[in-house]
Amino acid sequence: MVNDCVFCNLEMEPEQGMILSNEYCMFLQLKQAQIKGSRLEGSGLIVPKKHRATVFELTLDEWNATYTCFTQI
Ligand SMILES: [Zn+2]
Repeated sequence: MVNDCVFCNLEMEPEQGMILSNEYCMFLQLKQAQIKGSRLEGSGLIVPKKHRATVFELTLDEWNATYTCFTQI
């Protein structure tokens, strides 16, 4: 966990909500992306629960969990 990371500290971005999660990752979405007809409707981020600076740091379990999360969106 990194203190100034918005993905380790979800409360840092009040507009951000966790839509779904599994053991290793979560799908985050800003409120504006939930507005029907908005330019970013449905968009969001899949991020690992443990802090990773880049995707190259993901473990195989985290990669697999990211794929599983992606198929559930
Ligand atoms: Zn982080």
